[in-house]
Amino acid sequence: MKQIVLGLIACFFAVSYGFAQSNTNAGITNLPRIAIAGLGIESSTFSPAVTQEEAFHARYGPEVFNAYPFMMPISPLRKQAIWLPTIVGKSLPGGAVTRQAYESLVNKTLDSLKKYGPYDGLYFDIHGAMSVVGLDDPEGDFLTRIRNVIGYKTLVSTSMDLHGNVSWRLAQNSDLITCYRMAPHEDAMQTKERAVVNLLERIKTGKGKPAYKAWIPVPILLPGEKTSTRIEPGKSLYHEVEPIADHKDGIVDAAIWIGYAWADEPRNHAVVMVTGDDKAKVTQAAEKLALDFWNVRNQFGFVAPTGTLEKCLADALASPKHPFFISDTGDNPTAGGAGDVTWTLTQLLARPEFQRADGPSLIYASIPAPELVKKAIAAGVGGHVEGTAGAAVDARFAPPVLLKGTVESIVYGDKDAEVEVVVKVGSLHIIVTQKRKPYHKEIDFTRLNLAPRKADIVVVKIGYLEPELYAMQVGWIMALTPGGVNQDLASLPYKRIKRPMFPFDKDMKTPNLSAQLVPLSGASK
Ligand SMILES: [Zn+2]
Repeated sequence: MKQIVLGLIACFFAVSYGFAQSNTNAGITNLPRIAIAGLGIESSTFSPAVTQEEAFHARYGPEVFNAYPFMMPISPLRKQAIWLPTIVGKSLPGGAVTRQAYESLVNKTLDSLKKYGPYDGLYFDIHGAMSVVGLDDPEGDFLTRIRNVIGYKTLVSTSMDLHGNVSWRLAQNSDLITCYRMAPHEDAMQTKERAVVNLLERIKTGKGKPAYKAWIPVPILLPGEKTSTRIEPGKSLYHEVEPIADHKDGIVDAAIWIGYAWADEPRNHAVVMVTGDDKAKVTQAAEKLALDFWNVRNQFGFVAPTGTLEKCLADALASPKHPFFISDTGDNPTAGGAGDVTWTLTQLLARPEFQRADGPSLIYASIPAPELVKKAIAAGVGGHVEGTAGAAVDARFAPPVLLKGTVESIVYGDKDAEVEVVVKVGSLHIIVTQKRKPYHKEIDFTRLNLAPRKADIVVVKIGYLEPELYAMQVGWIMALTPGGVNQDLASLPYKRIKRPMFPFDKDMKTPNLSAQLVPLSGASK
């Protein structure tokens, strides 16, 4: 009977939501019912920026499938369940999310979940470093509220960014939990797919919730720019994860979270988790990962040489190799910076080398200035434009900067920037955007008629270079510039993170790194 009822609901879904389901033979199906929900952002509480609902570009219902290549209609995974996507939103990193935006997105998710239950599983797709004004541990809060709707029989599989934070509450309400194993996150989709595959496998085999979830808080808080998995010690540490997770009976998954350094809550620190059915293997694996992490803590260093902007420019100008990349790290929009800090651009405009049009060519990406974009459109390509840019959100380090130059290109339609304009000032090619946008790919430049490979210097608001830029650079320094994601963590006014914490507290004793077993979801704490 239950099957028939479920089948009818599935049939209703197939019609009303336009889901293409196979095996719904005469409306009867044995396929598990799996919901999809989640919100992803990393938001700095050290930035004056705030994030509104539209920044999440929320996908509703069947649109959610488009976020996952492994969920396309022809993919084998798609056919193995009745998928019931609610809302998945993903924002560029930024400032703290307003309470109103958070409540709106959470309530829409809960309303959708209420309509289409019951569920055998839920895939919870989050980043894990969302800050919400006036609310601690938003992802833990979100999942607790989801549990109040779906109950505790539903298996929840959570996938995260390794820069997310895993509170005890999030760990308890998740049955399966994992995160990326690579930074830069080249394995993001693979991780999400693994979370879904493991969820399906536990449901279809009837194994259900893994019996053990080992959670170990590791009192380390480091920026992503020191913990890339491209270099040691992050490389070897993260190489330990896959053999543990994928090739051992009794273990379902293993993960190491670096955590997020630009928010100030007790949950901001590294965490190791291992899930599985074999208590000894689960706890031993978690303890080994945590101890190995702790033992290499002093070896983490910046992924590239660092220096003041002045030093970076001196090196770049003296270098025979081009393009020479400089990361403008303090205002990296993909770590949570406002993206409109003008400090670096102000310094560049004041430098004598770049005053003449035939000076060393430098591409600057980027500065938001909606008014200047309007003026550039009015002037047209080749026209003269003049106006202020940046510092509308974060003016703590420098005021809006005056740009006077020639419009080189105008491009419409980018999802984040909406309109992008290149303004040539002296020998600087400055990308001015309507809204802030990260520049991570070669095409982000070439579509604006810029040729980064031919430029002498490329300055990007970024931390470590994303793969395409990394492949292009023949010289690279990270400039330690001011902004909402200042890399000099010791200068940040932390008040609420747990202490002692490496590297802030010198001469720390070895912490207790024994595995703590998190109760199964729904069990009393
Ligand atoms: Zn990340």
